[in-house]
Amino acid sequence: MSIRFYNSLSNKVEEFQPLEPGIVRMYSCGPTVYDFAHIGNFRSFLFADLIRRFLEVMGNDVIHVMNITDVGHMTDDHLADGGGEDKMEAAAKRLKEDKKSGKVPEGAIENPDDPYQVAQYFTDAFLEDSRKLGLKIAFEYPERIPHATQNIAEMQNMIAKLIERGHAYVGPDHAVYYSVESFPEYGRLSGNTLDQLREGSGGRVNEENQSSKRHPADFLLWKPDQSHIMKWDSPWGMGYPGWHIECSVMARKILGRDVIDIHTGGEDLIFPHHECEIAQSCGASGEAHFARFWMHARFLMVEGEKMSKSKGNFYTVRDVLGGKVTGRAVHPAVLRYELIRSHYGSNMNFTVKGLKDSAGAVRKLNEFRKSLEERSGGAVETIDNSHPVLTEFLGALSDNLNIAGALGVLFPWMSGNHPNAAESLGVLNRINRILDVAPMEHHQEAADESTDEFDPVALCKGIDEARSQKDWARADDLRNQLQSAGYEVRNSPEGTVATKQLV
Ligand code: AMP
Ligand code: ZN
Repeated sequence: MSIRFYNSLSNKVEEFQPLEPGIVRMYSCGPTVYDFAHIGNFRSFLFADLIRRFLEVMGNDVIHVMNITDVGHMTDDHLADGGGEDKMEAAAKRLKEDKKSGKVPEGAIENPDDPYQVAQYFTDAFLEDSRKLGLKIAFEYPERIPHATQNIAEMQNMIAKLIERGHAYVGPDHAVYYSVESFPEYGRLSGNTLDQLREGSGGRVNEENQSSKRHPADFLLWKPDQSHIMKWDSPWGMGYPGWHIECSVMARKILGRDVIDIHTGGEDLIFPHHECEIAQSCGASGEAHFARFWMHARFLMVEGEKMSKSKGNFYTVRDVLGGKVTGRAVHPAVLRYELIRSHYGSNMNFTVKGLKDSAGAVRKLNEFRKSLEERSGGAVETIDNSHPVLTEFLGALSDNLNIAGALGVLFPWMSGNHPNAAESLGVLNRINRILDVAPMEHHQEAADESTDEFDPVALCKGIDEARSQKDWARADDLRNQLQSAGYEVRNSPEGTVATKQLV
């Protein structure tokens, strides 16, 4: 069965095959941790999760990486090189108010003036929300979810390389800029031309610092700034990195390749962020591509407008689950279903009616599952992709993630006769490895688990240590502990890795 995805780079639906058969290397732009992520952000994150789970059921190992943007960046990041107020500083101000008014729980954050504490507070909240919504990658923190602030040296190395290769320069203001004219492909992803950008292209390049830049679209790689809330020493002075460089660096470092298979994000990231990532990664590697497939989720809208932090028209996962939208608590599986059930290539309008419909669909799936379990007496057949229902379900998803088509296979099948309950349960299980909504219970369990003492990362380190000391019994014991907690344990070039098996 061939897989076809829409590639924003070619503006076409193309056949997808990973560079290395059976292994997909995929990078997703993650959250900025200066506030709670809203459900629009989660539409983009769940879109990436859906791609991943689908590719896994199709027989691939998916190595998925997503960053945490915890370096303080500017409120005007939609411009090519930022500007405005520092987001982390703004968050500190807000948190101080929230602490006074009791909105931040006692002891949750000791010092809002410490940007690392602010970032960790929102990172923890993000992971908790993500686990509730079944985002697989959230169970792979921190190995697959690196923090920008922990990769500053690597960013400096890439910047030095870009200077060496003639793609970057130090301006008269001592900041380091990427020279867009040094990279003839600049604009290929977004369709912008350098001439349009020179004219300001509808306010999409920053008017600040223009005298220091060779071209108005040149973007910041390193900004010396003694007064910045987060700063590091560098060959270009004490300061901080530009926003775009972190993704180029962390994708390369953790995926271990100059060319990766898939890069995802929301549609607003196409320009400047992803355009700049391509310029940096290809500029440094000399390769023709950074990601072979660029895939973007269209926006979640509220009453015709993009849901966004800056517009203030947003709901967080907590708002929705806690009943702020519907007046009643919403199960995480219902919100997950609601956010994945419409095609990523179209805008999605968020409505109470939509949530109610999703609640109905998830209830039906769970009731179906229960009735099968009762009838099968605990027996489940192992089903592979050649089963006719899976062939149809996966066939729809292979067609550029046609989720409506896939659900249009699932629900009529559920309404039919099921003489062999164990077989049908096997089919449902396999489908649920992608949808992850039935059974519903584990979303809550997953969230609860995030607060217990079980530390898979420490256990993996323990295994590596035991092995290096040839203490095989201890290594086995630690592996058993991970496995009985539902983790799949694998060797990787970086050592032992434990992946939570969600379904
Ligand atoms: P941020 O934390 O603002 O950097 O955003 C994280 C991710 O959410 C990015 O991939 C954005 O493109 C995406 N995003 C932001 N707003 C929306 C929205 N309303 N609908 C879908 N995705 C969004
Ligand atoms: Zn990014």
